[in-house]
Amino acid sequence: MDQLLMIPGPTGVSQRVLKAMLKNIVNHRGEEFGKILEETSEIMSKIFKTKNESYILTGSGTAAMEAALANILEEGDKILNIVNGKFGERFMQITTTFGGNSIPLKFEWGKAADIEKIKETLEENEDIKAVTVVHNETSTGVKNPIKEIGKILNNHEALYIVDAVSSLGGDKVEVDNYGIDICITGSQKCLAAPPGLSAITLSDEAWDVVESTDSKTYYLDLKKYRESKSLKPPETPYTPSVSLIYALNEALKVVEEEGLENRIKRHKMAAIATRKAVKALGLEIFPDEEVSSNTVTAIHLPKGTSDKEFRGLIRKKYGVELAGGQDHLKGKIFRIGHMGNVTQRELTVTISAIELALKELGFDIELGKGVSKILEVFSS
Ligand code: PLP
Repeated sequence: MDQLLMIPGPTGVSQRVLKAMLKNIVNHRGEEFGKILEETSEIMSKIFKTKNESYILTGSGTAAMEAALANILEEGDKILNIVNGKFGERFMQITTTFGGNSIPLKFEWGKAADIEKIKETLEENEDIKAVTVVHNETSTGVKNPIKEIGKILNNHEALYIVDAVSSLGGDKVEVDNYGIDICITGSQKCLAAPPGLSAITLSDEAWDVVESTDSKTYYLDLKKYRESKSLKPPETPYTPSVSLIYALNEALKVVEEEGLENRIKRHKMAAIATRKAVKALGLEIFPDEEVSSNTVTAIHLPKGTSDKEFRGLIRKKYGVELAGGQDHLKGKIFRIGHMGNVTQRELTVTISAIELALKELGFDIELGKGVSKILEVFSS
């Protein structure tokens, strides 16, 4: 039996998208591929809600995180890294890797970034060159207030860099409206394409900085991406993952057909239903609920079980793959990804597997109590 993949990325990929990868490999510097690349980038810009170009990078989300920083950083530049989880931490590590002076602004994992603290830090450090924030902290199931942070940054020179890897296509991300200068995403989360690609879009202000900065990376030098994409037909500087781009192109068409607003609504419904279902089973949500994510729910592990026992049973006996916690949350929480193509179909199976596993592990569970919440929300 195929595993039902309910982790927060990679997510299940439809047959339609998988089949797109079977197309013949064509010349990556020819007309046919140029058209596909251009179309994929154009749809990506629509999903980012930006008038600016988007670039498809061969490399997972972390490649785009690197590209965002390695193209704007000079040795010693101050970067304000907002950190409330694993991926916020990653931006901090990338900053120092490329010689930046990271100013970390840390919040407890499970809480959202605090606007007032961000304001204060920016006032204390006028020479901050860029601010990084992760919209949807996949490690904790927290959504950060990217719109509000954008408003603060209206009055500041700093570039605004947003990681929308696990939110684009599943939650509201409006790059131009929020004043985001650099936004990145990955193929394998809410967009429901296979893993291995990422995308990045830059504002005019960000391009001004990129053009006047020596890139700290060769492969991800964005100036080269811009140059190649302006050729006729458009290209990438190096051989791209042609088959994955076929798949991403198809996946983005699916997003367009569903309609972005409908897709976000479906994700929101899945999030509400998941939270109601696990709470009905007596489980506790890990993050503050008012800032909880549209695309992933982090839940305290039921007391008296181990991660290995609990998730292992759900995987082996019921065929559902859930995610564990990361870093210090390992063995403390588990996570349900409800992103990409997830509907009530996958959620009823997932919650029923959790119910059966809890019962088998000796918990006093009324079977169906969680599943009924999924049905209630999706029928409302
Ligand atoms: N940012 C966020 C919010 C993520 O969830 C992830 C992956 O889980 C990444 C960045 C890194 O992406 P990748 O694993 O595709 O390199």
